[in-house]
Amino acid sequence: MRLILLGPPGAGKGTQAQRLTAKHGLVQLSTGDMLRAAVKAGTAIGLKAKAVMDSGALVSDEIVVGIIAERIDQPDCRKGFILDGFPRTTKQAEALDKMLAERKLRLDAVIEMKVNDSVLVERITGRFTCAKCGAGYHDKFQPTRQPGVCDRCGSNEFTRRADDKAETVVPRLKAYHEQTAPLLPYYEGRGILRQVDGMADIDDVTGQIEAVLASL
Ligand code: ADP
Ligand code: ADP
Ligand code: ZN
Repeated sequence: MRLILLGPPGAGKGTQAQRLTAKHGLVQLSTGDMLRAAVKAGTAIGLKAKAVMDSGALVSDEIVVGIIAERIDQPDCRKGFILDGFPRTTKQAEALDKMLAERKLRLDAVIEMKVNDSVLVERITGRFTCAKCGAGYHDKFQPTRQPGVCDRCGSNEFTRRADDKAETVVPRLKAYHEQTAPLLPYYEGRGILRQVDGMADIDDVTGQIEAVLASL
């Protein structure tokens, strides 16, 4: 199965992708995570991407398309993948179409997670992640069961993203509405767009996505 999760920053794409990988044996391909890893490792791509990411703008299509093209040929992607945070522009969507066509692969569905902008600031500013295993949490909406201890791996080290500040949310939402939202009619025109109510609680959203997958 090959899926795209599409939605604004903070919509819950990463949270749901983590659940889907665990249950369906799919690989989560998050360009945001890959770029952050490149920044941390200090690679050429990381050096180019850092300032752009900190400002809340989008990294160039060329860079992210290159990252994804390399990644989907790895053996672990053979069973399928969930794209989380890619594509984000029409150019990226066209590049993805070309990549898949060359490999005789197709997309099964694009799932839009609909969330009002009004809740996104709170979601983004409360977000934190286990530094060891990458499990995602939220101060209020998805706290660890034991304070300061990761549910999944027991680590007590957590990280917060440099761009998860209230000031950076505004340009990120603007980038979403201007550059990414046009992908909705793009995929609707092909009959593969599905929608879920991302305002619902986390388990409910998972249920809605499972219902979409069962209908494919
Ligand atoms: P995205 O990957 O779309 O940017 P995340 O999955 O990282 O979003 O979610 C953003 C934050 O909101 C995280 O801290 C997560 O725990 C929390 N969150 C995710 N889904 C929901 C939801 N349905 N209701 C409330 N909080 C949520
Ligand atoms: P969020 O979880 O809030 O949606 P991501 O982790 O997906 O954020 O992305 C963080 C930042 O990384 C983006 O603001 C952007 O600068 C960069 N980025 C990630 N994916 C892409 C992409 N497909 N195209 C361009 N920039 C990207
Ligand atoms: Zn952990």
